[in-house]
Amino acid sequence: VEPVLSVEHLKKYFPVRKMNPFAKPQAVQAVEDASLDLFPGQATALVGESGSGKTTVARMLARLYDPTSGTVRFRGEPLRLEKSSAAMRAYRRHVQLVFQDPFSSLNAVHDIRYHLSRPLRVYGHAKSEQEVTEQVLALLRRVSLTPAEQFLEKYPHQLSGGQRQRVAIARALAVRPEVLLADEPVSMLDVSIRLDILNLLLRLKEEEKLAILFITHDIASARYFAENTQVMYAGQMVEGGPSDEVIQAPKHPYTQLLLSAAPNPDRIRGAEDTQVRTRGEIPSLINPPTGCRFHPRCPHAMPVCKERFPQRTNLGNGHWTHCFLYGDNSQQAESITAEA
Ligand code: SF4
Repeated sequence: VEPVLSVEHLKKYFPVRKMNPFAKPQAVQAVEDASLDLFPGQATALVGESGSGKTTVARMLARLYDPTSGTVRFRGEPLRLEKSSAAMRAYRRHVQLVFQDPFSSLNAVHDIRYHLSRPLRVYGHAKSEQEVTEQVLALLRRVSLTPAEQFLEKYPHQLSGGQRQRVAIARALAVRPEVLLADEPVSMLDVSIRLDILNLLLRLKEEEKLAILFITHDIASARYFAENTQVMYAGQMVEGGPSDEVIQAPKHPYTQLLLSAAPNPDRIRGAEDTQVRTRGEIPSLINPPTGCRFHPRCPHAMPVCKERFPQRTNLGNGHWTHCFLYGDNSQQAESITAEA
């Protein structure tokens, strides 16, 4: 199966405004080198602490941010990185983003009928008023908001958090996308309904053959939800592959640290957020650590880890990591350590 959306070596630096005109220009180095593939009917989880760069990756894929460099391919064709409104509209017809906070992503002054009918009109999916209403009702039923007629005239503040997120998902589906970028879609919801929303997304993935990028800080929910998992730390991709491989046999010390903070897969039902509080914090990305950015927190760090970022090592079965402990990297690390 060919990927529907591919990203190669994506980089994003945000310039920082200089207070002192003589100071050297600085930038937040939010994403250093991100590559991933999204396949129809499959989910890829992008996992990391806040500040890891995962939301920046999603926003570049949604074309809300322009990448500093790198390639985005849609159905194998490289996207032009400059924005023209026609090209942008055509792309957004295929790639939709669902935000973390359903309340702020919906407009408080418009009812649900408006939210769902607008994309149908903009993208020409419904010709007459009757067609619009029929399709809006069908969208509400697809996200299990029933009886659908009762939701048409409601406003966002009259719905629960879970219902609002269902409306946001229905709005994304209205343009019949091939890719859904779901940025922490359950983290702001009551713990009792998180699983319902994840199950809804799983059902849509199967039924619509959607390719889903599932952004999360909770590695336990990644295993439940996604066929593939990639782990990011401080703007660098550190490990990836089939979710079972990555989560049952993590190789990168950061993935191991994340999992040690979330040992129980049942955490998906609730408990606290899976923030890693041990062994320091994610570094500032204005002046990040050199080489492997995890080296200040890594129990296995070697001199070479400060010098350069390790190449990708394939571990078999599609599992890979960037770490000097593995493959050719480990031989390099030994010889450099010996020289040192
Ligand atoms: Fe640790 Fe070095 Fe591997 Fe980075 S490259 S995770 S510092 S051993």
